[in-house]
Amino acid sequence: MQVIVVSACLLGINCRYDGKAVKDMSEELRKRGYLPVPVCPEQLSGLPTPRECCEIVGGDGFDVLVGKARVLTRSGRDVTSHFIRGAREAYRVCRIVGADLAILKDLSPSCGVERIYDGSFTGGKKRGSGVTAAYLKEKGIDVLAGF
Ligand code: SF4
Repeated sequence: MQVIVVSACLLGINCRYDGKAVKDMSEELRKRGYLPVPVCPEQLSGLPTPRECCEIVGGDGFDVLVGKARVLTRSGRDVTSHFIRGAREAYRVCRIVGADLAILKDLSPSCGVERIYDGSFTGGKKRGSGVTAAYLKEKGIDVLAGF
């Protein structure tokens, strides 16, 4: 079995900002020959669950990593440092388990792979990666979008 890292909320773990999971694709992944290791960068960052929803303002995850964009909560609190910490911890898990592939939940400010919310907190979306997806890509991990 190939060990892969997967957004925990795609494996039935209730770690999302609203205290819920998205779905549980663990059995499907095992049937395909993958051993999924759950990772939630936002919980690893020290943020609570449930928590205020967050969006990247002024760019995407790559911009956050170079200090050109920030992650804010809906009420305006700057949680950029948490998101960077979560990305580093997620990469640490990849290294511990020897995973070179991650399936991450699209649209999340941490895990989004192809699309994220546009930072307006109005439901608008744009192309771009979340902070963890960007960090893992920079470290050479293959990242695929899960939904
Ligand atoms: Fe955690 Fe990523 Fe799921 Fe958000 S999308 S709840 S950060 S695993």
